[in-house]
Amino acid sequence: MTQGKRFPLSLASLGERAKTGGVATPQTATRNRAQTSARQPMPGAEPARPMSMVSDAVRSAMVTRIARQGVRDEKVLAAMSVVPRHLFLEPGLASQAYIDASLPIGHHQTISQPYIVARMIEVMRGNRNGGALERVLEVGTGCGYQAAVLSRVATEVYSIERIRALHELAKANLRPMRIPNIRLHYGDGMLGFPQVAPFDGIILAAAGMEVPQTLLEQLTIGGRLVAPVGARHQVLKVIERVSNEEWTTATLEDCHFVPLRPGTAA
Ligand code: SAH
Repeated sequence: MTQGKRFPLSLASLGERAKTGGVATPQTATRNRAQTSARQPMPGAEPARPMSMVSDAVRSAMVTRIARQGVRDEKVLAAMSVVPRHLFLEPGLASQAYIDASLPIGHHQTISQPYIVARMIEVMRGNRNGGALERVLEVGTGCGYQAAVLSRVATEVYSIERIRALHELAKANLRPMRIPNIRLHYGDGMLGFPQVAPFDGIILAAAGMEVPQTLLEQLTIGGRLVAPVGARHQVLKVIERVSNEEWTTATLEDCHFVPLRPGTAA
């Protein structure tokens, strides 16, 4: 099966998220106005480009920056260039979606910086299988953005979020994209997902003082876990399972993530 065929509707073709039904909020009205004015130029003005074309252009500029920052993996760059990051943010922040920064998603959490999303997936793909990933686990779904990127490089993506409202937000964000190979779960990702383990790759989107051993036990042999580790000073670590009882660890670069917390929250 090709990557493209796994999406009944191509992400790139989605353009702006269509709000069907539901209650129109002032934000919806503002966005509608912005979209209308983008499509219907003022008399005498140059015809404006549709919003989706604007976001395609700024997204490809983002990917160029990520490549310049050192991400080389073409498959990861291709994935980053099709997932519409602006649709994972509230309308007021959508215009900042393609800057290289983490941004608030509510509940004191953030959508990760695009560079680090790409970098972690590239490192996970640096496995001995030439990057082939059957089943991957993400701990910390947040708004669902990284799960959508992962869906382009792995056959099956499982993502766990401990804050129920964010789990619901990710479901709402991903639903219109109709991505068939993502499964979202509400729960404590520090426990992993024993029902579906083992995983060829695991990514933690939140930083703990150490990586839970339970997660390391849920890696396939040859599988890689990529995680930020630390409190105020954090580093990105990659841990590879080399045999049943052995793991190797390498420390990559400094990073900054929200904390990994045990248990669940409403
Ligand atoms: N992957 C997201 C990043 C979300 S921020 C993106 O695409 O941008 C990290 C998320 O990890 C937060 O939503 C936080 O609630 C969640 N988190 C922290 N500890 C967790 C745990 N033990 N299990 C599951 N999620 C956790």
